[in-house]
Amino acid sequence: MNYARLIALLPLLAASPAALAADPVAWAAPAAAVGGLVGVAAGLWLARRRPAHGKDAHWRMARQSAMLGWFEYDPKSGRVCSEAETLLGLDESWRNAPFERWLARIHPDDLAAVSALRSELSPGAEHRLTFRLRHADDYWEWLAVHARVVGEAPGHFTLFGVCQVVTQAKLAEAELIRREQSFRALVDNAADIVARFDLNLACRFVNRAVNRYTPTPRDEMLGRRLGEHGWPPAVAERFEAECRHLIDTWESRRFEIEAGFGGAARRHLFEVQLLPEFDAEQRLVSLLALMREVTEARQTQRQLEEENIVLEMIANNRPLAEVLIQLCRMIESQLIAGRCAVMLKAPDRETLTLAAAPSLPTGFAHMLREVAVGPDEANCGSTAYWRRTSIIADLDDVPAARRWRDAVQQFGIRACWSVPVTTNEQHLIGTLAVYYDEARRPTPDELRFAYRASRIAAIALERDRHEKRLYHEATRDVLTNAYNRRHFLELAVREHKRSHRYDSPLSLLVIDLDHFKQINDRHGHAAGDAVLRAFAHLARQTLRGSDVLGRLGGEEFAALLPNTPLAEAHEVAERLRGAAEADAVDWQGGAIHYTLSVGVSTLIGADSVDDMLARADRWLYAVKRRGRNRCDGERPGLREPADLVQQTR
Ligand code: GH3
Ligand code: MG
Ligand code: MG
Repeated sequence: MNYARLIALLPLLAASPAALAADPVAWAAPAAAVGGLVGVAAGLWLARRRPAHGKDAHWRMARQSAMLGWFEYDPKSGRVCSEAETLLGLDESWRNAPFERWLARIHPDDLAAVSALRSELSPGAEHRLTFRLRHADDYWEWLAVHARVVGEAPGHFTLFGVCQVVTQAKLAEAELIRREQSFRALVDNAADIVARFDLNLACRFVNRAVNRYTPTPRDEMLGRRLGEHGWPPAVAERFEAECRHLIDTWESRRFEIEAGFGGAARRHLFEVQLLPEFDAEQRLVSLLALMREVTEARQTQRQLEEENIVLEMIANNRPLAEVLIQLCRMIESQLIAGRCAVMLKAPDRETLTLAAAPSLPTGFAHMLREVAVGPDEANCGSTAYWRRTSIIADLDDVPAARRWRDAVQQFGIRACWSVPVTTNEQHLIGTLAVYYDEARRPTPDELRFAYRASRIAAIALERDRHEKRLYHEATRDVLTNAYNRRHFLELAVREHKRSHRYDSPLSLLVIDLDHFKQINDRHGHAAGDAVLRAFAHLARQTLRGSDVLGRLGGEEFAALLPNTPLAEAHEVAERLRGAAEADAVDWQGGAIHYTLSVGVSTLIGADSVDDMLARADRWLYAVKRRGRNRCDGERPGLREPADLVQQTR
């Protein structure tokens, strides 16, 4: 045996760490152990070969407890001389046995590799092999072999090797691989995006989930930064700022980012967790990013918040116009890129009028001011007619839309859809429409949301109607629909203040129907009511819209005439008197005629409303005294009726 050659083999044996497997992670630990022990084994082997010093038995025991063995294979004789039999629980006959005998103990799957080793022997060659051998107790034991071919004479060489039982390490490795595989499967199939970035913020790993958002193939992402993966620049910037913060502080980060991909109308909201990854020396080596999509949760939360704002406005009796604008904003915040309009059904006509459209182009909103309701009408008009959702995914595709397509397209509108707004009793009270600049149809979720919004619109409209009805009932006289006395006086005070502030004229007529008692007596109370109603109707037609008609009580009315000087007020009174005289109230096939008398006053100096009323009343009384069916009132220089200066009624 050439010792020098064997010593040359030593460092090679000692430095035999990681060749056991390609995967350094899986193999690092067992291989290092094997490498180190193989080195020790070589030492032991040498010790065995040294001249006897009486400790051989001890060395042998040490080798056995380290589960180490050695062997020599001489190709010429075809025999293996070894100290490996104890590792496999075999008897001494294996200390010097033919190679073929060993082959019979080798696991069928490893046979090829071991046989190949034999045929590849050449001087100086080094071989490492791990394979299974059948233990005497009939189970497979893994053996790691590290051997070298040494030529002792020309044409004659021997394979020297050490071996160690590595079954435990092999099983641990298999377990590790299994775990690694299941971990990878877990990560790869995770719904969340899992990605690793190096300290230059280049992507080192990303799981499959990322391709739910961006079509960039995963291997193209590797080595590149987030902004180069198809993520919007602003989002990438925010993400990297957080990464840099982590690199500076070593503290994990949690934040949200919002991104739309490929110009799609849908936004994605991610909750991102950035974790630092350290190596064995506690140096920061990479960043792990876990990105969970929370769009739906956040959207629902935001939707509820926005709905609450609208509902609170309704509860707080905010003006309908304000509520509907807020409702449109809520819809627009949920239906990305959509622009919303709320239309109201006119109660007495087959038309819809625009109530709110905060984001539509002014010109287009102008077009929507009044829209006809009909079976073939545009979007809202047919929705109102049929009381069902109408969807125009692309204006170009809808023949019915041709009539107004050109007009609409100048505003860049390409698609629209609308849903009816109905009361609980299914009365149509309006429509809710969403307009888009690009051809698209609503998703089921979007439609569901629109129906919900339409319910809120209905609540707002019904509440508004209810409020108006209450207001109407509180301020109007039920029989004639003129303002009741209390509200008339409130309005009169308001007008009075205004006239003072702007120094504008204000006149007042107090009107009393003549011999009304006789009408009641002759035709009955119901006829009297009909006459009162007829008069109120006539008065509304005769007076201006800005004039205020009130029923002071019984058959006595008052008309407040803002911006009307005295002379003009006299004319109005006379016109009203003449109209009443000419009026004929249909009653049970006949006609009832009636007349009225009017007292006129006007605002002068520091007059109060009561002063004006009292004066007009005195003029009326004077008129009645002088006969009826006439008007009289103050004139410049004559404030009170001459014959009644001291009297009140
Ligand atoms: P004069 O020309 O002096 O005003 O005579 P008059 O009969 O109109 O006045 P008077 O005050 O004597 O009678 C008013 C009548 O109006 C008495 C009352 O029964 C009647 N009246 C008051 N309110 C109503 C009402 O709501 N409906 C009807 N049908 N009659 C009413
Ligand atoms: Mg009367
Ligand atoms: Mg009267």
